Amino acid sequence: MLRDAFGRIIDNLRISVTDRCNLRCFYCMPEEGLEWFDKSKILTFEEIERLVRIFASLGVKKIRLTGGEPLVRKDLEKLVERLAKIPGIKDIGMTTNGILLAGYAQKLFDAGMRRINVSLDSFDPKVFFEITKRNQFQEVIKGIEAAEKACFSPIKINIVPIRGINDNEILAFGHFARKTGFEVRFIEFMPIGTGEWTLNDVVPTSEIKEKLSEIAPLVSIEHDTRLPADEFVFADGIGKVGFIASVTEPFCGSCNRVRITADGKFRTCLFSVVETDLLELLRNGTTDKKIAEILAGKVWEKEAGHLINQDAFVKPMRSMSQIGG
Ligand code: SAM
Ligand code: SF4
Repeated sequence: MLRDAFGRIIDNLRISVTDRCNLRCFYCMPEEGLEWFDKSKILTFEEIERLVRIFASLGVKKIRLTGGEPLVRKDLEKLVERLAKIPGIKDIGMTTNGILLAGYAQKLFDAGMRRINVSLDSFDPKVFFEITKRNQFQEVIKGIEAAEKACFSPIKINIVPIRGINDNEILAFGHFARKTGFEVRFIEFMPIGTGEWTLNDVVPTSEIKEKLSEIAPLVSIEHDTRLPADEFVFADGIGKVGFIASVTEPFCGSCNRVRITADGKFRTCLFSVVETDLLELLRNGTTDKKIAEILAGKVWEKEAGHLINQDAFVKPMRSMSQIGG
């Protein structure tokens, strides 16, 4: 079992499969892109599978594939198929921008993926373009429809409300949750990535909740408190929403997650300033047993929490797309 010095049990692993992306969300990546990782430095599917077997032997049960945009990694369903067969892995999900999802949803479902989060920051194609620098709003909608058709459950929609950009759409997203049955998750804008960030740009969860309660009061629902989102349903029972209040109400005390970047670095926090080079260990003949020992040691040293809004905060060197959100 992976346990840290604060008693937190770690059973949830996020794996970034690529640092590349087909969108340029201004808060995540500059318009010209970033310097991509060298292909030879990207974990192969075999290496990811080997790592997941090691993590599973240490008690990890849940995997989430992310990126960059995970669907720009060719044949992703083949990785899912491999991971789904690993004893102990109970749940494989993915966070995607949805652009390529229409062509992949069924294949991913058939390979064993069941949970999907699609990021969508606006229902207005013009604002979608303003945020992502690409005119591909309709592709995302088609991707969500394909995920529904393939029977993914749950389907969650991630929105990052940003002051003055899309914060006027909070009610529209609330109504969308009610109309579709998808859980809409409001993620607070965090100081990570290549875009400018100030606290004034963050729409606090308290404000989002207040706005949504114009539709109907929100009632907290029972959920796994080790997961980042606080979940609520509208009082009439229709429509589920979640809040990830990383900035205004950090939930680090109950964190159960660790991460692997596409270039094989192990991170115990999204905001870690240190990482462990697993790629090197995988390629230099280190045994699985030794890697497991190293991982257990690093997890023990997991940070108490991020330091956003504190003087000691240090912005990670990597952007969100290079870590895996
Ligand atoms: N490309 C995929 C996507 O956009 O869903 C997966 C990777 S992306 C980095 C994962 C999630 O992180 C997305 O929902 C995105 O909106 C969110 N994200 C990126 N930068 C963020 C930031 N600075 N603050 C809050 N959320 C952010
Ligand atoms: Fe790409 Fe996701 Fe970053 Fe947007 S948030 S640029 S879709 S990695």
